[in-house]
Amino acid sequence: MATLELRNVTKRFGEIIALNDVSFTVEDGEFFVLIGPNGSGKTTLLRVIAGLVEPDSGDVIIDGVKVNDLRPSQRGVRMVFQDYALYPHMKVYDERRFANLNFPLKVRKFLKEDIVKVMSNVARRVGVEKELYPRKPDQLSAGQKQKVAVGRALAIEPKIFVLDEPLSNLDPLGRLRVRDEIRRIHREIKAATLYVTHNLPEAMALGDRLAVVNRGAIQQIGPPREVYEKPANEFVSVFIHSFDLPVRPV
Ligand code: ADP
Ligand code: MG
Repeated sequence: MATLELRNVTKRFGEIIALNDVSFTVEDGEFFVLIGPNGSGKTTLLRVIAGLVEPDSGDVIIDGVKVNDLRPSQRGVRMVFQDYALYPHMKVYDERRFANLNFPLKVRKFLKEDIVKVMSNVARRVGVEKELYPRKPDQLSAGQKQKVAVGRALAIEPKIFVLDEPLSNLDPLGRLRVRDEIRRIHREIKAATLYVTHNLPEAMALGDRLAVVNRGAIQQIGPPREVYEKPANEFVSVFIHSFDLPVRPV
């Protein structure tokens, strides 16, 4: 159980301002969606939260404690990367060796019997079937890789769960299925969750609240309906209506 707060986070890459004075709080147990076009700074923000990128200024605060100086593994933040970032030379799961699903437990030197216990729970939760265990990532479909990546992130119970565009490599049906699964998993683990997407229907379906970001700056924060019905500025309005289906005369 935890809250995540960002306070005035700014990050530049040379001339580019990837994050421009970003502040918001994700409440305990909340499903918070960050939505914005490509290049708006979403991945950079997740990397700052996870401790993989150092901000130029501003603070990351977890449960009221500033974590800027903590290493990624000490923050209690578990991340699912956009490209899954599975270890290509490792199997999905192997009781005795380092493998993709149990990697975080092996690193922390969990005993074998504990790994078996935790993993059977994790594999059930994300729906990784036993027949996938001996496979390497290049023998998995996008949907299966996705499940392994989510399972790995959940192997250590997260305080803060962050996901970077987890549906973007799936076909439309796969998206619907995994979307429902992510919602169910969130209900089970109840961790503060920050979910990144550029897709409005996904954001509307999943988010307790949305934050719309453009060029590294937060444009609006609110419940999905409110953002949809009362866009705070022209950018939000145009962005949101870019998802309307075109109606053409036949
Ligand atoms: P998003 O995830 O919303 O597509 P990113 O956070 O990946 O956006 O990128 C935001 C901006 O920062 C982009 O202009 C991108 O090119 C730039 N950027 C991200 N990471 C780096 C980096 N390591 N070096 C230089 N520029 C970067
Ligand atoms: Mg990105």
